[in-house]
This record gives sequence, C-alpha cells and structure tokens, in this order.
Amino acid sequence: MSRRPFIAGNWKLNKGPAEAGALASEWVAALSDRGDVDVAVFPTALSIASVVEATRGSGIEVGVQQIHGKTSGAFTGTNSAEMAREAGCTRVLIGHSERRQLFGETDEMVRTKVKLALASGLLPIVCVGETLEERDAGKVDEVVLGQVSAALLGIPADQLSGVTLAYEPVWAIGTGRTASPDQAQEVHASIRGWLSENFPAFVAAEMRIQYGGSVKPANAAELLSRPDIDGALVGGASLNAESFAGIVREA
Ligand code: PEP
Repeated sequence: MSRRPFIAGNWKLNKGPAEAGALASEWVAALSDRGDVDVAVFPTALSIASVVEATRGSGIEVGVQQIHGKTSGAFTGTNSAEMAREAGCTRVLIGHSERRQLFGETDEMVRTKVKLALASGLLPIVCVGETLEERDAGKVDEVVLGQVSAALLGIPADQLSGVTLAYEPVWAIGTGRTASPDQAQEVHASIRGWLSENFPAFVAAEMRIQYGGSVKPANAAELLSRPDIDGALVGGASLNAESFAGIVREA
C-alpha cells in the first residue's frame, strides 16, 4: 500500500498577517512543481486569513495550530474547530509537545480535541513523542504508544482515515538534533504495529505517520526513504520557502 507523502510546516508563534502572507506566496511559487506530495501550513491564528488568501488555488492546505475542546462559550483566548473551518482551515495540530509542556495539554484533552476536530470536518495531525529522560529510561514505546492510544482508541475505524500522526521526539524539536533514520523508523514501525493490533488492517496500512524534529533539506531524504516514515512535520526550516521546498522535493 503506498501512502501519499505529506509534508507540513508549523510556523509556531512567528509571522504576523503581512509577513505570513508574503511567506505563503513564496511557498506557492517554490512548491508549484511538488508533484504527488500533500502540503499544509500552520500559521498563527491571526495570520490564517492572509495565508488562506495567498495560497488560494495552490492546493496548499492551511491548518490551525490549536483548538479548544468546546465549540463556543466563555473560553477567552482560544479558537474553535468550526471557526477554523469557516476561516478556511482544513487541518489542525493536536498534542504538539509545546502545547503539552507549556500549556498543560493532557492526553484527555488531546482525545476530546481529536473527536471534536473530526466531527467538525477538520483533519487532525496528532503529535506524540518522548522526552530524552523517557528515552534514556527505555520508555519510548510506553510513552509514545500510550499517547497514540489515548488519542485514538474509541474512534470508529472509518473516521481514522482523516487522522495523521506525527512522531516528534521532544529532544529533537528545535534543538538541531534529529533522530537517526533508524531510530525514527523503529518508533514509526511500533506505532504502525500498534495500529494493526487495535484496528482493522486498513487503518495501519493507510494512516500516515510524519516524523518531526529538526528536519531540513540535508536530512530529509534519508528519513523519508524509510518504509514507515510518510512525511514530515517541519518547524524551523518551514520559515524559509526554499528550505521547505527542499524537504518537499525529497518526499
Ligand atoms: C515542530 O515544531 O513540530 C518541529 C518539528 O520543529 P523543528 O523542525 O524546528 O524541530
């Protein structure tokens, strides 16, 4: 079964509306010949409108970095899945390690948000990954599979085709340290094994698992050549259109 490569850029808290629109236009030009690769960008919420405008007709999808677990009400300072849809988003990041570590996003919240996103027609990228201490303690599978099961168990299999997973070892995010292709492939294979044990076979065969953590043009080819690595979630290198396009060309 061949899974279509999926490369996404997370701009985090960078690029206000004007700069984001300009960078998105550079992406459109740099990615015009990307072939059979799905591409999405996650700007800060305030820049979604300008990025949707700049990417219109390009096939580049726009996503929101964060949604709340409730659809509306007295929840100052956040976004809802439906409002993100209305603003032109098709995707959402859920469970990014920065949300887990800095904003207290728990497995329980991740599960609620995944269900809400799917019910609203927003396709989630669910991020999972261990810290360095957890890796050193030999707990990679326990942590990662625990996060995957918390996010996905109980969701009907036919809805899971809309879900992408991103394996992002916390120690590799924004640090310049990348997991080796063997390290990454090993975890991706265990995630796929877990999916095949817990859902009908088509789920494991179809679900895309991205790798994230200091991906750049120089290390993308080797990572993306591994059988269970179906794409990348890119932070720093996505802030430069040429670097991002260099990664997409390796997919
Ligand atoms: C990320 O934010 O998901 C990420 C992987 O960042 P970086 O590529 O900068 O490590």
